[in-house]
Amino acid sequence: MKYHSNKRVLVTGGAGFLGSHLCDRMMEKGYEVLCLDNFFTGNKRNIQHLLSEPNFEVIRHDLTQQIFLEVDEIYNLACPASPIHYQHNPVKTVKTNVLGAIHMLGLAKRVRAKILQASTSEIYGNPEIHPQRENYWGNVNTIGPRSCYDEGKRCAETLFFDYHRQNGVNIRVVRIFNTYGPRMHPHDGRVVSNFIVQALLDQDITIYGDGSQTRSFCYVDDLVEGMIRMMNAPDEFIGPVNLGNPHEFTILQLAKKVMELTGAKSKLVFRSLPVDDPLQRQPDIRLAKERLDWKPEIQLETGLMKTIEYFRDILSEFH
Ligand code: NAD
Ligand code: UDP
Repeated sequence: MKYHSNKRVLVTGGAGFLGSHLCDRMMEKGYEVLCLDNFFTGNKRNIQHLLSEPNFEVIRHDLTQQIFLEVDEIYNLACPASPIHYQHNPVKTVKTNVLGAIHMLGLAKRVRAKILQASTSEIYGNPEIHPQRENYWGNVNTIGPRSCYDEGKRCAETLFFDYHRQNGVNIRVVRIFNTYGPRMHPHDGRVVSNFIVQALLDQDITIYGDGSQTRSFCYVDDLVEGMIRMMNAPDEFIGPVNLGNPHEFTILQLAKKVMELTGAKSKLVFRSLPVDDPLQRQPDIRLAKERLDWKPEIQLETGLMKTIEYFRDILSEFH
């Protein structure tokens, strides 16, 4: 017999950008939601509207330490995602990824919970294969400034598959490509938030390099839907599976689109390209389409408008 009747879901990193949207969706489904976060890059504002709900619980905890909980499903998202934040304390980033995965997998093993890992397109590094398919092993620098994140996430994937093979843990691994939307931190340095904030404040728009590098941007609602479908996929499909929007844009195109949509008077300025900045990135999402019947629905322009609206609202609080 189960110890409780309602499904209990743990979201690590639940006060962050993606985690808070996932908490919203879990609450809508009527589950009991445990939001675990150390509030390094997460923010109480992201979950403020949930705090008074009886099914919602916040646990302030650092995932580098063990924790004992009774849950049915775990979405493991805890880890700073923006280069500025994950490079702030790189040793901690490795610990969060590796110890965090070990602690959550140990928990899943003990209470027989299903567990999904938020992996990343960064595990492909600076890819030599384009677009990236799940069977590509990647081109990753082990000793550069991005390595703490890339290698931490790669090791976490290894741990997930070893716990699965060795201990029969019911795992899911999704590889998330650049995702954007409301609740991104306005100062986390990621390209979409940077460009929108700069445009709304009529500041210079900072293009790193010549802006010809590409990324493919997925709106948060599409991404969260993909994660939920993966958690609910048949047990024989454990991934890894790419989740992202295959429409690829240059960074220069993105800057121009943001300026057009905000009506900004900003000018474009060119800065040096960060070390190991991947030149191109585009997910091959055939596997997600086939196995999860999933593809992104929201066009870049629509998603950017929603994100711009959000930043218009909150910018007054930050400046
Ligand atoms: P985010 O920084 O907004 O959220 C991460 C959350 O984890 C924050 O709330 C932070 O406080 C929390 N956290 C960090 N270290 C922790 C620790 N040691 N213990 C407990 N909590 C901790 O980032 P996000 O964009 O929401 O990313 C969520 C997850 O998705 C991350 O694992 C990230 O690697 C992955 N991901 C995101 C993207 C993207 O484009 N947003 C792309 C690929 C992968
Ligand atoms: N970028 C930029 N200007 C900015 C922030 C980022 O030109 O103000 C570039 C960055 O160099 C990279 C791309 O935009 O090529 C995406 O950067 P982000 O940090 O959002 O994500 P990631 O590099 O992890 O894909």
